[in-house]
This record gives sequence, C-alpha cells and structure tokens, in this order.
Amino acid sequence: MLTRRLYYDDSFEREFTAKVLACEPAAVPASPEAKAPAWEVILDRTAFYPSSGGQPHDLGKLGDANVLDVREHEDEIIHLVDRALGPGEAQGCIHWPRRFDHMQQHTGQHLLSAMFQERFGRPTVSFHLGTQICTIDLRGPEPTDEILEGAERAANQVIFEDRAVTVRYGTADELSKLGVRKEVDRKGILRAIEIESADLQPCGGTHVKRTGQIGLVLVRRCAKIRQDWRVEFVCGGRAERAARQDFLLLRQTAEKLNCAPEDVVTASTRALAERDAHFKKFRAMLESLAKAEAALALQAAQRGPRGFRIVSRVFEGLPAEYLGFFATEIAKFEKTISILALAEDGHVLFAQHPSAAKDMSALLKRVLEKVGGKGGGTRDFARGRLSDATQAKKAVSIAEELLSAA
Ligand SMILES: [Zn+2]
Repeated sequence: MLTRRLYYDDSFEREFTAKVLACEPAAVPASPEAKAPAWEVILDRTAFYPSSGGQPHDLGKLGDANVLDVREHEDEIIHLVDRALGPGEAQGCIHWPRRFDHMQQHTGQHLLSAMFQERFGRPTVSFHLGTQICTIDLRGPEPTDEILEGAERAANQVIFEDRAVTVRYGTADELSKLGVRKEVDRKGILRAIEIESADLQPCGGTHVKRTGQIGLVLVRRCAKIRQDWRVEFVCGGRAERAARQDFLLLRQTAEKLNCAPEDVVTASTRALAERDAHFKKFRAMLESLAKAEAALALQAAQRGPRGFRIVSRVFEGLPAEYLGFFATEIAKFEKTISILALAEDGHVLFAQHPSAAKDMSALLKRVLEKVGGKGGGTRDFARGRLSDATQAKKAVSIAEELLSAA
C-alpha cells in the first residue's frame, strides 16, 4: 500500500500524526550488532525520510518507540522501531538536527553540482552524503584549483543572494522543457527541485526553502576515483565545524612551531630544513665516530695463527647504519673480518676484506639457521636481522666459533 510522503510537500514538517497500518516483528535486525528485536511499522502517511538518492534516512520517535532505520520498499515506507506499536494512531517526531543537516548538505550538493556543470562543464555522476563529509563524483579531466574554488565561490554567491528553493512536479517531457539537463526515463509525474535561476533537478530528497539556509559551502579535497574525480565538500553546520576545526589545527601547529598562524608554512619549512641539515651533520659525525672506533678496535684485535683478525661487537644505542660505517672501515684492511650486531633490533652485519677469503653470506646463513632470522649478501658483505633481538650476543659468538673452526 502506498505511503503518503509528507516530506515531499513540506520538508520542514517535524511532527505528524498517522494511522498505524501494520506493525510486525522485523525479519532482519536493525544492524548486525543489534541483538534486541525490532518491529517494522507501516503508516498511512509519514514525514520520515527513507535512505534513498544519496540521502540517509531520518531518526526520531514513533509514539514511545525509537526509529532505528527507515527504508523504502516500492511505494511503501518501512519504519524499523525498537518496540511494538499498538493499533490506531501514532505521533511521529523527526530528530530535527539530523534532518536539517541532511537538508543543508543535499541542497548544497544540488547547487555545487549546478555550478560545476554550468561554469566549468563538469557533470556530477554521483552523490554521497556521509556522516562527516559529502562527496560528488565529477566526470571529465582533473578539476584544477581554479575550478574547485570557482565552483565554491559561485555556489556561495547564490547562497548569499538567498534565492528560493521550490518543489516542482511534471512529466519528464515537461521538466526537460523547463531545463532539466538529466535524462529521466521514469514514467508519470516526477518531482524536481528548483533553485531559482540556478538549477532544476529531478530529486525525491528533502531540501531547505531558501539558499540562505544552506549557510555556506566549503569544498575540501579532490581525489581520483576510477575514471572520475571525487570532490569532498561540507555545507551549513558542517562547514562551520570544519572551519573551526581547521583553525584549531592551525593554531595548535603554530603553537608547536612557536610562530603566528600566518607564518606556519615559513616556520615549518625552516624547521624541516634545519632537521635535514642536522641529520646530515649527524650522519657525518656517526661516520667519523665509526672510523675512529674501528681504528681502535683493529689495534686491539689479535692476529690469529694465519694472520687473520676478527673484530666482533654487539653495539647498543646506535642506529643500524653505524654498523655499515664500522664494517666498511674494518674491511679496508687485509685479512680482517668484522662480525657485528645491534642489541636493540637484532641487526647483524658480517664483512671481510676479500683477502680473508671466507664466505660472509654462507656464514650468515649458518648463524641464522641456529638463532633464527632473515638476511643475505655477497661473499664479502652480508647483513640480516634476527627474529629475536636478545639473541644478538649469541649470534656473534656462534659466528666467531664457526670462523675459528674453519
Ligand atoms: Zn537530490
């Protein structure tokens, strides 16, 4: 049975009385998490908007019951509620802040899409009204910053002019004569939303009465989605919150950088340049330190029976690249081998001067077989990582044993 949709003619109707035509236990719960039983209610008329056309459903009350979901099934509107409704009449009440927010976003979308189309020839192929942001997908080449800004400014101009938003009815033919761009193949009388001298669009959604009620349109990011460009935007109360949030972030960043909000870019560029310069210096010093420590270690290392020297170390509190600097320095000397590990993360590095004539890669492989880990390399230089960093000392002593046994 057809449910009369009160929101078609007056989207500002928040309270209404209707006859309960049916109230049955719901076949499916309101959500996968919801364990409580739900009922499906059908009324003769309703102001509740069902999820459709990119606009989410309303919430609110039907008598004492909470409305959990509103769905459209052919000509009927099904209200999913958390308790059974008695026969007779029921008082409906729409949760207005949610609905008004949807109206601001939806009318804002019509307006923004119209500006993209009219000023820049970019048609909207889909619309989504999310809980945080709204999106439209534009067909065509990537919209430049000028296009994004231009459409936003044009939309806001129409908002400032506070133009009328009206509902029109007509057949597809009649509407196309009035200037509806979209091809509609639906039969019968269609509903369309007109923004005075700006747009006429077939739509079953709820809209504000005047563009001024949209408040403001803010275009946010734009990203490629398959063949289209997804433009994020927010309107009205959401735009206010987004602007407030943006400024808060800017202020917090400025406080961190110890500068005025307008100097954030300069100050962060400077801080990043300083960081890079410090990092370069740090690396250079790390290399010098590794060279010096390697020289000392070589002096202390005893030559074995065949003139070999093995320098083995487990380092602590140093970055992994230190091992590389250290090993490179050691391996410059004939018949020397370095067996290194890092206690914190289990990095291991084995390196030799080619004259030492061992196989570092094979040695690493044998060590890793015993203590666990991954790695590889060449005859002269092999590195890996232990699965358990606490095995660093053990890995080094196993390598030493294997070398002396060879
Ligand atoms: Zn619409």
